[in-house]
Amino acid sequence: MRCSCLAAAAAVAAVFIPAFPHFAWAQSSAGPEPEPLPPPIVAPVDTPYPGTIALTVNLTNTSDRVAAVDEIIPVRAGQMTLLYPQWLPGDHAPEGPIESMAGLVITAGGQRIPWVRDRVNMYAFHVDVPAGTTSLDVKFDFLSPIQPGDGRVAMSHVMADLAWNTVVLYPAGHFSRDIHVTPAVVLPAGWNYATALETDSKDAGTVHFKETTLNTLVDSPLLTGEYYRRENLSTGPGNQVFLDVFADEPKYLDITPEELELHKNLTVQAQGLFDSRHYSHYDFLFMLSDALGGEGLEHHQSSEDGTDANYFTDWKAGVWERDLLAHEYAHSWNGKFRRPDDLWRPAFNMPEQDDLLWVYEGLTQYWGEVLTARAGMRTPEETRDILAAIAAGFEDSPGRDWRPLIDTTNEEILSERRPVSWVSWQREEDYYYEGMLIWLDADTKIRELSNGKKSLDDFAKQFYGIDNGSFITHTYDFNDVVAALNTVQPYNWANFFRTLVYELHPQVPLAGFTQGGYKLVYNDTQPPWEEHGIPSRRGTSYATSVGFSVTHDGMIRSVQWDSPAFKAGLTPGMQIVAVNGNALGGDGEGSGDVLKDAIVQAEKSTEPIHFVVKKGGRVLNVDVDYHGGLRYPHLERIPGTPDRLDAILAPVK
Ligand SMILES: [Zn+2]
Repeated sequence: MRCSCLAAAAAVAAVFIPAFPHFAWAQSSAGPEPEPLPPPIVAPVDTPYPGTIALTVNLTNTSDRVAAVDEIIPVRAGQMTLLYPQWLPGDHAPEGPIESMAGLVITAGGQRIPWVRDRVNMYAFHVDVPAGTTSLDVKFDFLSPIQPGDGRVAMSHVMADLAWNTVVLYPAGHFSRDIHVTPAVVLPAGWNYATALETDSKDAGTVHFKETTLNTLVDSPLLTGEYYRRENLSTGPGNQVFLDVFADEPKYLDITPEELELHKNLTVQAQGLFDSRHYSHYDFLFMLSDALGGEGLEHHQSSEDGTDANYFTDWKAGVWERDLLAHEYAHSWNGKFRRPDDLWRPAFNMPEQDDLLWVYEGLTQYWGEVLTARAGMRTPEETRDILAAIAAGFEDSPGRDWRPLIDTTNEEILSERRPVSWVSWQREEDYYYEGMLIWLDADTKIRELSNGKKSLDDFAKQFYGIDNGSFITHTYDFNDVVAALNTVQPYNWANFFRTLVYELHPQVPLAGFTQGGYKLVYNDTQPPWEEHGIPSRRGTSYATSVGFSVTHDGMIRSVQWDSPAFKAGLTPGMQIVAVNGNALGGDGEGSGDVLKDAIVQAEKSTEPIHFVVKKGGRVLNVDVDYHGGLRYPHLERIPGTPDRLDAILAPVK
């Protein structure tokens, strides 16, 4: 699709754009004519940048959440452009937080050098380097958001997550692997740190790291904090993996031996699946924090993993999010080592193209679910319930009627993950979960066609197993994926993906369930893990019954388009005051029981469910005509069929 669009654009250009430099349109109507744009920023080339940048970041101002940057950049006299990274691998969008950068001062030999921001590219700063100058001293601050509404909070008074891309300006014109940096960080007294970078030396609160490339630096964040615990998850001397846990308070570092064993299982199962590694050593940079924003960002040799502070201490509550570590770890193979060719960029200020995110993220979502189950971090029943809940969420989403899955790969750039009002009509980053269902379809299809002799595990060993030990990225395109699948099990894979991913496909892809020996059903039994976990964290979903989800205190989070709730006039942002005359929260029980009771009663009645809601300053009565009872999605075994799904979820011996 991308190729044909470009061809079409080229054809249009050939017809309409005159062969004049700049704009030389003949004026044929009254009004202003366009001024030419500033010249483009110099493109990166694959040549070494002369010299090594010395970058020091001071993190001691934790009360103001400021990272102070001091950068010495070797230069030559003349015009140069410094860039603040905009397109970060893993973000899939131009989200480099330049709005949080302040206090930029550039000097040379003690003299201030003026800078000018490019008029079109807000991430580019032009500098005229005076004759005789050999280096610039660049100082600025990165101001971490303090309130969650201002952006992702990256620092607290006990922890800081340092993404190096937020604290570096780099010279335009070179591949990021051709720019060398010696990084250093000044830490608050008594703080520990973890990173994939190699430590060179330490003195008086400063940690000096060995010289590295800008590419590896940005791929190697540093997590630091007061309360720290490190666990060894290595499977052997050739596969070094560590869990670096930083927490809001020491009490959250209390890990039971059983929980630790499950995390060790994860690395064992990942080796069983991929049979390769693409890191020197791997570090889970694990933030157990209610102060820092949640996070999941993949890197070659580490991942930034942020979740609720009570991840270990209220283990039962976290079933839904339990795949976080497995997902980010799987990205070391799928996303970092193997990456779509149009998503890989030679430097951080060139646009990425996201059209293969259904492989990059969809397949990683699949590996994450599979590895979480194989490690025992979720029971097979919990995994099946979660798969059912994901599929059910798509079943009642009419956005599938107008928007093919491939178009949702643009969603990161379109919305940058801001919440949207009508998710089920607009669709969101569906390439994660729907992509996962499609890869389950592919895995069970391979198992079916090969009579159980082959599986997607064979694809994993083949696709990621090249250059074992290397973390130099290998790119791929659609045809490479199809070809690799065909060597495992011949099938019309190109048509398979074109139908499910690229064409409009209103039906939810459920073939993975049936080929796996299960079918999607609904009943009134709420999964125990959901009962325990969801209400306290994310609210409760009634999406498959009345048609909305609601927080513990009665705020409607989302409403399914065309659902009974939608037709009655309920919208996101309404506060439920009472249901059938019973006040919410009056007994301290939250929204759950009052709502459930009303839905159960309505099943035996023709009376609508009576809601009293607040919206802004108004109080409204809303009647929802729904009588279908509670409907919780589950997977139910189809008797007499091969049990392929359970085989997929079973640990590899
Ligand atoms: Zn991911």
